[in-house]
Amino acid sequence: MTLEKILRQRLDERRRDGLYRQIKTLAAAPTPLVTVDGREMLAFSSNDYLGLAIHPEVIAAQKAGAELGAGATASHLVNGHFQVHQQLQQSLAEVTGREAALVFSSGYMANVGTLCALLGRADNIISDKLNHASLIDGARLCGANSLRFPHGDLDGLHRQLQRAARRGGNTLVAVDGVYSMDGDLAPLAEIAGLCRDYGAWLLVDEAHGFGVMGSAQLPLAGSSAAAGLDQSQVPVIMGTLGKAAGNAGAFVAGSSALIDYLVQFARPYIYTTGMPPAVAAGSIAAVERMRSEPELARRLQENIAHFRQRAAQLNLPLAGSSTAIQPLLLGCEKTVMSVSAKLECRGFLVGAIRPPTVPVGTARLRITLSAAHSHDQINALLDELVSVLQENAVVRS
Ligand code: PMP
Repeated sequence: MTLEKILRQRLDERRRDGLYRQIKTLAAAPTPLVTVDGREMLAFSSNDYLGLAIHPEVIAAQKAGAELGAGATASHLVNGHFQVHQQLQQSLAEVTGREAALVFSSGYMANVGTLCALLGRADNIISDKLNHASLIDGARLCGANSLRFPHGDLDGLHRQLQRAARRGGNTLVAVDGVYSMDGDLAPLAEIAGLCRDYGAWLLVDEAHGFGVMGSAQLPLAGSSAAAGLDQSQVPVIMGTLGKAAGNAGAFVAGSSALIDYLVQFARPYIYTTGMPPAVAAGSIAAVERMRSEPELARRLQENIAHFRQRAAQLNLPLAGSSTAIQPLLLGCEKTVMSVSAKLECRGFLVGAIRPPTVPVGTARLRITLSAAHSHDQINALLDELVSVLQENAVVRS
């Protein structure tokens, strides 16, 4: 059969299963207002939790960064590592309370690169079943013995640590600090305790925690700091710059030895063009805004609280997340598509998440909140959501 014919068959199957993904074309980043395919809409789908993608000072810094060159012109180890990258790494190490940090071009590359650099066939990797795809792919690619435990299940983790100990080799436990499709938090203090008991290394993906949560001393460091954990308990953290920082790229933070080691061995760091200097300059400004405008994170928390309170008044069947990620589990892919299409018709953009991004039978709307939303905008979404869910007989009128 020709390649073309096979591809068309597989695409038809995707459509039949209600899993076909369609790209939307936006005119610019949501403010949260956005023009999609020529229509003005209100977005509850971006990861720009603090509104920094549209912050005038961040944009000005990014424009100034472009004066250093449109691109880095080579990989970091050749001649693509500029002072702005160095400054960004310094600032990320400071706000995460780590000795050092290393920037990657994306979080996907940071996770895959770190796991493949740290682990080999003789080792074990233990993952939460709902880990982000980049951790799952890193676990596969690194060739280590891959063990998984049910989402958030400490007994399950304990059993896998015992299995790994019987097998021998080094063991790394990898979890998301905040789960990207559920918005819930990993029980990090307990996980770190188990890792300590078994001498396992802990990697926390802070993609959705960095910049929006932390401890009193390190308010931006993420969910591990919020759980009271430091570098000795969480030796490897990965954070992304494409979410709360409103930009692109990612970083790993940890000991100087970890960072030095990744420079030597993380192939997605070594064999790719360096982060564009404008992105590094914009990200420095974004971190600076996070530090000097704590009201942004406060406003986000207020919006989350307002959303949850109002959703509870309206009897909306939300999952109970306390973060900016608020999923509404609908189960069936076709219902999710119908609800999100109706919301779009009424001017609201919400993520429609289906397998394989989430397990079969758990298709959902993924509503994300930002400091940039107003309470009126949140109320408008919730009112429209109730009416659409009633039409689809998901909730009773
Ligand atoms: N980890 C998690 C938990 C994520 O949600 C994402 C982004 N979807 C990534 C890693 C990958 O980050 P990036 O978009 O920078 O590749």
